[in-house]
Amino acid sequence: MTLTQDKLAALDKAHVWHPFTQMKDYNGGDPLIIERGEGVKLYDLEGRAYYDGFSSVWLNVHGHRVPELDRALTEQLEKVAHSTLLGMANVPSIELAAKLVRIAPKGLTKVFYSDAGATGVEIALKMAFQYWHNIGVRGKTSFITMNQAYHGDTIGAVSVGAIPMYHELFRPMLFPSYAIPYPDAYRQGGAEAAAAATIDRLKRLLEEKADSIAALIVEPIVQGASGIMVMPQGCLSEMAALCRRYGVLFIADEVATGFGRTGEMFACDHEAVSPDLMIVGKGLTGGYLPVAATLATDRIYDAFYADYEERKTFFHGHSFTGNPLGCAVALRSLLLMEERGIVAGVRAKAAQAEEQLAPLIDRPHVGDIRQKGLMIGIELVKDKAAREPYEWSERIGVRTAMRARELGLLTRPLGNVIVLIPPLASTEQELADMIRILSNAVIDVTENGWGAK
Ligand SMILES: *Cc1c(COP(=O)(O)O)cnc(C)c1O
Repeated sequence: MTLTQDKLAALDKAHVWHPFTQMKDYNGGDPLIIERGEGVKLYDLEGRAYYDGFSSVWLNVHGHRVPELDRALTEQLEKVAHSTLLGMANVPSIELAAKLVRIAPKGLTKVFYSDAGATGVEIALKMAFQYWHNIGVRGKTSFITMNQAYHGDTIGAVSVGAIPMYHELFRPMLFPSYAIPYPDAYRQGGAEAAAAATIDRLKRLLEEKADSIAALIVEPIVQGASGIMVMPQGCLSEMAALCRRYGVLFIADEVATGFGRTGEMFACDHEAVSPDLMIVGKGLTGGYLPVAATLATDRIYDAFYADYEERKTFFHGHSFTGNPLGCAVALRSLLLMEERGIVAGVRAKAAQAEEQLAPLIDRPHVGDIRQKGLMIGIELVKDKAAREPYEWSERIGVRTAMRARELGLLTRPLGNVIVLIPPLASTEQELADMIRILSNAVIDVTENGWGAK
């Protein structure tokens, strides 16, 4: 028997500490408690339906309760739920690795599993650092990141993170890294100027410091958590070429952008970029289970491949590395993506979404609409002509998300940027419905004062 909303809400407030949540605000409200999902909708305890407009934090691919994925999970359960990869193997992790290598950008041939995007990032950073050590190059110990980058919440990932609100407090705990600007076409005078600024800064940094830099880490094509910033065309491939030229490893964090989200299987595929290391997570299991992976080239792998006495082993692992349940579901999800032409579908639906969102740009407080595939951000501004942001204290994003929830759509804002990141399998009708609700929420809050104090 399930407890009632009131009883569960009381227990939730008494015992659960929610991520990225000010609990004082949360406990003052009536919590949304999800009981079940079906397709692209989630249902609360009282049976109200909500579109999962942010894919349960950017994870979901095929919707919820997908029979094929459910079956892959229960079939694996009948064999074994978990066994370790430390010095031994299991079936689904092998099959999934082979599949990942087949679909990944050229040159990535080895798969190191973990259980979250952040751990995948830690692995990439440590691999890059140890790579230079193992091949006998000393001093290449620093990293380049990009302003406003988000790579997860563990200490290494935060060290290459650059969102002051989340990261600045922890600075004394972190290793230092260099930051170059992520191109911001909206506030840096257009795509061309923004891209040039990034490339110029990277070039100068590499000229000066390449001898001390192990790797550059980048969210390719779309920088997500900073507000869905979209890179001008050509920028990513130019960055990769510069890193190659100056002997700095190129790490692509595809945790948010991977598996069709931007309209290619991986964002790097937009510009045929082959990173030295690539991290995937979020959509890997279709959004079902916590599996992530760090993919590496032969060149990286071979630097660790030696007689044991040489001490070149990668001493890193997690309890649930290569979890068979997660790997079995991930493998089925990737096959389902092919069977259903998900990536081509994203391109078609992205065009539809762009068209249906276009009228919003004429509203008085919509400053910018940024989109790549089905990753969409709508930036709300106080003064459109001056591109002046709303005060943080106005919580314009939070209020818009609350209004959208009332109207039947779940999303989570990034500051003043409203996000639409629907499950990739959303139908045209569902997508149109989500856009309609989101547009109404934006208008209600920014023009009609909904939720203002
Ligand atoms: C979400 C995200 C991460 C962190 O993944 P977790 O699974 O939450 O640890 C890392 N990088 C990017 C680009 C992300 O969007």
